Amino acid sequence: MSAERTTLPFRRVAILGMGLIGSSLARAAQRHGLAESIVGCARSPETRKAALDLGLAERMEESAAASVTGADLVLLCTPIGTFESLARAIAPALEPGAIVSDVGSVKQSVVRDVGPHLPEGVHLVPGHPIAGTEQSGPEAGFAELFEDRWCILTPPPGTDTRSVERVADFWRACGSQVEIMEAGHHDKVLAITSHLPHLIAYTIVGTATDLEEGERAEVIKFSASGFRDFTRIAASDPVMWRDVFLNNRDAVLEILQRFSEDITALQRAIRWGEGAVLEQHFTRTRAIRRRVIEAHQAGTFDTREPEKAGRPPEGPDKGGPA
Ligand code: NAP
Repeated sequence: MSAERTTLPFRRVAILGMGLIGSSLARAAQRHGLAESIVGCARSPETRKAALDLGLAERMEESAAASVTGADLVLLCTPIGTFESLARAIAPALEPGAIVSDVGSVKQSVVRDVGPHLPEGVHLVPGHPIAGTEQSGPEAGFAELFEDRWCILTPPPGTDTRSVERVADFWRACGSQVEIMEAGHHDKVLAITSHLPHLIAYTIVGTATDLEEGERAEVIKFSASGFRDFTRIAASDPVMWRDVFLNNRDAVLEILQRFSEDITALQRAIRWGEGAVLEQHFTRTRAIRRRVIEAHQAGTFDTREPEKAGRPPEGPDKGGPA
């Protein structure tokens, strides 16, 4: 965490959406002194109260426009399906020179939905932290969530370079490594690394749920045999994931097609007793797991196990980044 603080802190950071990611950012910004003040925005009075009780912001607004007044960094931390209406709502209240960024799990849709509404002189720097858990809400957040994780920024061509650098410095100061990527490329990469795995988890848990009552009891009882990890991923927020699939449709459908072909090949190998095909495939995938561990991306935090907070465990996956 050795970010040079030449572009930090921001004068006022507005965080719209105080759930897992927004509240974690508020905590990290406070811990590392990245904002002179933080103003939050949430739609429900419960979340606004919880955020104030937790000391996440000096003020919590119901109105998105009121929350961005005077802010030099605006972070959209709500489900991506809300971004267009939020952009419309905040546009008239944005300060000249302000940076608008986000944490959404799909990036082309941000450029499409937010970009056109921003006034001249306001800079759009979309971002996506590859960090998360299946928990939601302001209580679920924690300052260390982004440490040793990647944050991908997808500034459209021609974006003000100093604004990109300020956002990159913000993430580095939160403990992340920053990668700049073209938005369409991001969406393809995340379709395979995150979106498809979530779709598979949602499907497999749904299939198990549809089984007869008696068998379902056995599914839960023996879930440690593999099913358990799918249930954790499938517990992720339904609205957030609905929006991910609706907004990354093409990339997800393309990768799903390839996946279907590959699973059909394995199905065939099982049917015809082709043990060598199966063994060869499983040997190859085992090597990939080793590379994930070597890249320190094997585990994330589990907010239910606070004693593990501090560094991500190197063992089995503990979280479900999106
Ligand atoms: P979350 O814990 O469910 O929090 C969502 C927040 O957005 C809440 O404060 C909620 O307000 C607010 N919100 C929801 N619908 C809204 C609407 N229609 N208008 C205004 N505010 C609304 O979600 P999260 O996990 O932090 O995810 C937030 C964003 O981070 C998403 O865009 C997601 O793609 C991205 N992301 C998530 C993960 C992950 O693992 N969870 C990882 C990386 C990126 P109320 O509390 O008042 O309902």
